[in-house]
Amino acid sequence: MRVHRGPGAYDTVSTMNDVTIIGGGVIGCAIARELTRFRLDVNLLEAQSEVGFGTSKSNSGIIHGGHHAEPGTLKAELAWAGNQRWVGLAQELGFGFRRTGDLMVAFDDADVETLERVEQQGNDRGIPGIEMWGIDRIQLEEPNVSSDAVAALHGPTAGVVNPYEACFALIECAVANGLDLVVNAPVSAITRDADSFEIIAGGRRFRSRMVVNAAGVHAETIARMVGLTEPAIRGRKGEEYLLDKRLAGIVSRIIFPCPSANTKGILVIPTFDGTIMVGPTAEAVEDLEDVTTTATGSSATFDLARRLVPGISERDCIAEFAGVRAVAAGNDFVIGPTAVAGFVNVAGIQSPGLTAAPAIAEMVVEILGTQGLDLSPRTDFQGTMPRPVHAASLSIKELTELAADDREYARIACRCEFVTEAEIRDAIGRGARTLDGLKFRTRAGMGRCQGGFCTPRSMEMLAELLDVPLVDITKRGGGSWIVRGRDEHDQLRETAT
Ligand SMILES: Cc1cc2nc3c(=O)[nH]c(=O)nc-3n(C[C@H](O)[C@H](O)[C@H](O)COP(=O)(O)OP(=O)(O)OC[C@H]3O[C@@H](n4cnc5c(N)ncnc54)[C@H](O)[C@@H]3O)c2cc1C
Repeated sequence: MRVHRGPGAYDTVSTMNDVTIIGGGVIGCAIARELTRFRLDVNLLEAQSEVGFGTSKSNSGIIHGGHHAEPGTLKAELAWAGNQRWVGLAQELGFGFRRTGDLMVAFDDADVETLERVEQQGNDRGIPGIEMWGIDRIQLEEPNVSSDAVAALHGPTAGVVNPYEACFALIECAVANGLDLVVNAPVSAITRDADSFEIIAGGRRFRSRMVVNAAGVHAETIARMVGLTEPAIRGRKGEEYLLDKRLAGIVSRIIFPCPSANTKGILVIPTFDGTIMVGPTAEAVEDLEDVTTTATGSSATFDLARRLVPGISERDCIAEFAGVRAVAAGNDFVIGPTAVAGFVNVAGIQSPGLTAAPAIAEMVVEILGTQGLDLSPRTDFQGTMPRPVHAASLSIKELTELAADDREYARIACRCEFVTEAEIRDAIGRGARTLDGLKFRTRAGMGRCQGGFCTPRSMEMLAELLDVPLVDITKRGGGSWIVRGRDEHDQLRETAT
């Protein structure tokens, strides 16, 4: 893997790239993989210590069915196109994806009209299998949905994915095909010369003929660096609540209420890993980094979730998080060339951006082609990646066979999610550099005890395998250290006495 980390790796101008992608969320990662199909020098600059640590890890993980988005929008066009790519992508790259289907529930006549409108949208788009269900069918298929429901729209094309796994798999594939991934590289300035851009990131200088702005909520800041005043990006926060596995199976499809103008509402989501998640809220925020959860958000979420599925209780909540949607004027995606030649915006990628990501990536490659990028295909592109081992999904016989060759498969690092030390070791080999990087790749720390048992061993393994002191290990990069060195501890004690 050609992965450069830490300051000093590039204090001078790097060689000329054909394309620089700014931002390693699911959008940047998907674009990176698409671009490595061609004979190009491409790099991706990511501000954080790993890819996928922005909004792309903090969402509902739904691959939307394609029938929800308003007609005539880019969101609608790209959500359905993207939806159809996920089965193939999951097979090629070995991450978790399951087509669960979804159910939009109506409680009164006005809601039924909404269902009819959404059904028509889906039919107009040619989405197969959309069907209106009456109360008997709802109770038969989803007995835990409220008996107050009067009708529901079933869409079989919706699914769930592990969004962070998808980001990691996309970037690992891109890196395997020659992408230069540069993490800990926040872009702070861009200058346009006669035929290229100079980009300052993390104290280093890069050069590129073309730039793709995929910086999520910070896309406006990046666009301003080249003198553009658009797109203006506003933040809309969404809080999500993850429930104990005790509730696994309470619903088998994603349960939606009828949507409002700004949001799809609070959903009940059977995640890929078998847990139930409820959310997201939708709240305008000034601070684009505000990922706090709140008592108000929690009580609104559980009240609305209970209206759909009465058996849901806040007592079962084991974890909560929030993400910020990047909202552009007009509420649609903003994807296209700009007044600055060679600078392409991929901005305002709010929901259903995860769903649309594979189609957005293809669209961006096409746009770069129209901007003069030479899209000569490579003959040696490797589109598939080996599926990582997940001990929890193996039979005892399969695990025993693995452990006979490799004793680390016999040592359990995370008891709640049944993750072995071999999986931790392999995740570090694939690029995990932080505790969250390990958690999102292996699920270590995601269970009932939320890392109480596995954190020390995961930290030890990170320190050993990366050959860094234990005190340097962070939760998610930056200053999120977990333990203090003895010297600092002694100093603090002396100051206190
Ligand atoms: C609560 C919530 C629920 C959602 N649920 C769904 C869903 O179920 N289905 C769906 O389809 N969509 C969903 N979405 C939307 C989806 O998550 C986003 O559309 C998608 O993640 C956007 O990806 P991105 O790559 O544009 O942004 P991000 O993932 O935020 O990536 C942008 C990256 O740019 C980096 N960056 C920023 N500034 C700089 C800089 N100066 N230099 C270098 N790098 C920089 C950031 O660190 C970040 O990694 C949801 C969103 C939220 C908030």
